[in-house]
Amino acid sequence: MIRSVPIAPIRGSVVFPHTDTLLSFVRQESVNALEEAFNQDRLIAIFTQRDSRIANPTKDDLYEYGTLATITQMMSVDDGIHALVRGQIRVKLSNIVTESPYLIGAVEEIPDIIDDSSEIKAISKNLSDSFKKALSLGKNVEVMMIVKLISENSSPIELTDQIATTLEIKLEEKQTLLQTFPLIERMKKVQEILNKEINVLEIEKKISSSTQRQFDENMKKNILREKKRAIEKELGEIGGEEGEIASEEVKEYKKRIVDAKMPKDVEEKALKELVKLSKMSSYNPESGFLRNYLDWLCDVPWSVVSPNNVSITKARKTMEKRHYGLKKTKERILEYLSVMKLLEEQKEKGKDNHQYQPTILCFIGPPGVGKTSIGRAIAEAMGRKFARISLGGIRDEAEIRGHRRTYVGALPGRIIQGIKQAGTRNPVFMLDEIDKVGADFRGDPSSALLEALDPEQNREFSDHYLEVAFDLSKVFFIATGNVLDTVPSALRDRMEIITFAGYTEEEKFEIGKRFIWEKQLKNHGLTNITISDKALKEIINRYTREAGVRDLERNISAILRKVARLVAEKKKYPQNIKEKNVREYLGSHKYSSLIAEKNNEIGMATGLAVTNAGGEILFIEVSLMPGRGRLTLTGQLGDVMKESAQAAFTWTRSNYKLLGLKADFASKMDVHIHVPEGAVPKDGPSAGTSITTALVSALTKVATRRDTGMTGEITLRGNVMEIGGVKEKTIAGHRAGLKTIILPKENQKDMEEVPLKVKKDIKFVFVEKIEDALKIALTKWPIVSKKIL
Ligand code: ADP
Repeated sequence: MIRSVPIAPIRGSVVFPHTDTLLSFVRQESVNALEEAFNQDRLIAIFTQRDSRIANPTKDDLYEYGTLATITQMMSVDDGIHALVRGQIRVKLSNIVTESPYLIGAVEEIPDIIDDSSEIKAISKNLSDSFKKALSLGKNVEVMMIVKLISENSSPIELTDQIATTLEIKLEEKQTLLQTFPLIERMKKVQEILNKEINVLEIEKKISSSTQRQFDENMKKNILREKKRAIEKELGEIGGEEGEIASEEVKEYKKRIVDAKMPKDVEEKALKELVKLSKMSSYNPESGFLRNYLDWLCDVPWSVVSPNNVSITKARKTMEKRHYGLKKTKERILEYLSVMKLLEEQKEKGKDNHQYQPTILCFIGPPGVGKTSIGRAIAEAMGRKFARISLGGIRDEAEIRGHRRTYVGALPGRIIQGIKQAGTRNPVFMLDEIDKVGADFRGDPSSALLEALDPEQNREFSDHYLEVAFDLSKVFFIATGNVLDTVPSALRDRMEIITFAGYTEEEKFEIGKRFIWEKQLKNHGLTNITISDKALKEIINRYTREAGVRDLERNISAILRKVARLVAEKKKYPQNIKEKNVREYLGSHKYSSLIAEKNNEIGMATGLAVTNAGGEILFIEVSLMPGRGRLTLTGQLGDVMKESAQAAFTWTRSNYKLLGLKADFASKMDVHIHVPEGAVPKDGPSAGTSITTALVSALTKVATRRDTGMTGEITLRGNVMEIGGVKEKTIAGHRAGLKTIILPKENQKDMEEVPLKVKKDIKFVFVEKIEDALKIALTKWPIVSKKIL
């Protein structure tokens, strides 16, 4: 039977059917898988990793056979979860269905064939006796397991699996046992290994009785190791004068250590660890951890560097070739590179300018505006490798700096992983989602990040796992994020912020036409297919509403997939994609009406905000009901927005005359302000003017103009104050089809950044007082007193 189940990869052990095993998981994907499974039918397929160093294993990194298990208990701990699982049945991994947010695989169950021949019974009896003997000789087995094995009347199949888990053998051997399918063969193998263990235990007992009292407690660990070696020597399992693990392996590590050209102290450390390894028995589970550690030390690019040649002309050309527009951004990057180049040259001439602190670039902007692809272009122009890690949701310092080696399943942190992935020690290293780094009791990741990014400190970046310092000073870090204000301020101070505000419709059109279309054609193996301008605009206006071009790219790719299929099936396909094809391939419009096409309404106002996805328009709704002057706020309102609402309410109360209201109007009614779901605006004061407008409209029953958007903070006295994000907000207003935008007077200076096309299509009005905004936003002014309440 084939079923699809969540998969939890494990390192360093094998779970057998018919056994209970306690497992710990730290990787987010595994935690997700476990939690999901626990909430569903509790079934999870457990597969062992071939190489425990791999952080995100896929199919080829896992052994083909594993165990389907039920989760009997689960407990969350600081850095992951502990789960008690009970193995049910052997399974084969057919394929991975999806990798995110956790692995799901199609697995095929391999049922055991029940065999109760007399031979099986005989071996089973033997196994049970041998196991008891091993126990009496001091075999180390968990109490839970002993109870199970002794008290339960296990079938031969169960008994074999249960004993198999207790065997002290290498991982590969355990896996081999798991995937030995004929029962009789498996039983014989288990018996053989168990006999060997009994042998060892007997010899050990002999030796220990004579040596035990000679050493004090502190030496116990060493003695055990010594004893084990003595035993193994006696059994002829290790050879060589010094009883080394396998001198071949040691030699190979030595070569790798030398080849890695590590700094002196690191090399010393590596060699010291290698000596430790060489003295260890290969049965010692610690030897696996040591190997892992040595592998990491050898794999980190201590001395691999890409040649350092910043050519400004080349950088300009590469960026131009791949990106439309972004003029200012490109200029700032080129300036930055120029300074870097000059400093490098000075350094080469021996004039080390200690005063200068190279800052780190930080790209801030909504998704899909080209931050990553500009980063890649920089790497290419500089002839450097490109690495990229995401910091989103990181709360634990250990994610940046690694876990200490004493931790089971410890790995280096993401910085060192990224460096290894780049393979050089001077890559262009992109740190995505720097605005989503969290902090809690597990430590503040931003301080570890600071150490990684700070040129003063990063020459000696210490990773808890590596234990030795790595020089990050040659790495070209670029951080990226959607918004600036959640970037930890200590980090913000060290970075040169470059903002990507989002594209206008026209820019998207050009980008689509010149870059994305061609790129996607190539990706889909198509040539000579064109798209009409109208069709492209149709996609932009009716199927996407975004600051960047990601959805545009996705939609174009959806169309080309359909065309590619027609071509492959040798059916008739359009050579030039027209509007009607777009509708045919993408279905009906996703965004049908522009805001400007909607009617004016009472108690509604159109605000402009900046969200994680860039600029957005948002609607403020106000309704009134009889009451006692209470103000209720619902929807996506943060604390600062609530304060704006209070200020707006106060202003209307003190200006009742101006608005033609009765002096005590407020005492007879309740006000409800609501910001409908949809875009989630960041909390900020800039909705002040729009909240006031909606409120005044509701109070006076005068409709607001729907094609008029506004943004601005207001004070209790009705002054309109400066706000941020003018470029993003005006582009969003343009996208939504607004005709007029009201801005604070103090923001007039920001108009320079606003794209020409936006300035041409929209009428901008700058105001100092809220009355001036009301005059424009309301359909009627001055308000003739209606004495409505
Ligand atoms: P971000 O990192 O900001 O989320 P990406 O760099 O992933 O965005 O960009 C998304 C896609 O849009 C990429 O395929 C990129 O090449 C394309 N793109 C974005 N901006 C431009 C531009 N100005 N010119 C050409 N292509 C662009």
